[in-house]
Formats: sequence, C-alpha cells, structure tokens
Amino acid sequence: MKKCKQITELVSLGNEQQLAFNQRCAVNIHLLFCPYCRAFKKNTQQMRQLMQQFKVWKDDDHK
Ligand SMILES: [Zn+2]
Repeated sequence: MKKCKQITELVSLGNEQQLAFNQRCAVNIHLLFCPYCRAFKKNTQQMRQLMQQFKVWKDDDHK
C-alpha cells in the first residue's frame, strides 16, 4: 500500500507526464478511499487550469 506522500508525488508527476499503468492504478485505488489525496488532486487540477488561463492571458498581451 502506497503512502499519501508517494501518491501526491505521483499525482504531481501525472500532471507533467503520462504515468505508467501500475502507477495510475496505485493512484486511482488510493484515491478511492483517501479524501486527502482526492482533494490534493483536485487542487492541482484547478491550479493547472489557472496556469493555463494565465498563459492565454499573457499570450494575448503580446499580440
Ligand atoms: Zn492519501
């Protein structure tokens, strides 16, 4: 069983690159019963969306 620290690291990594199948399984199974890591994943996704929006705004400035 993986610990929350390992899972949050995998979740962060998963935002940067495609995880291996066994890594995705470990994350998904852990997320089923761990509300803390679910919240972490949600936060990283929201942060990522914000960063993408910010990038769009920045690109607009340079036109
Ligand atoms: Zn956890």
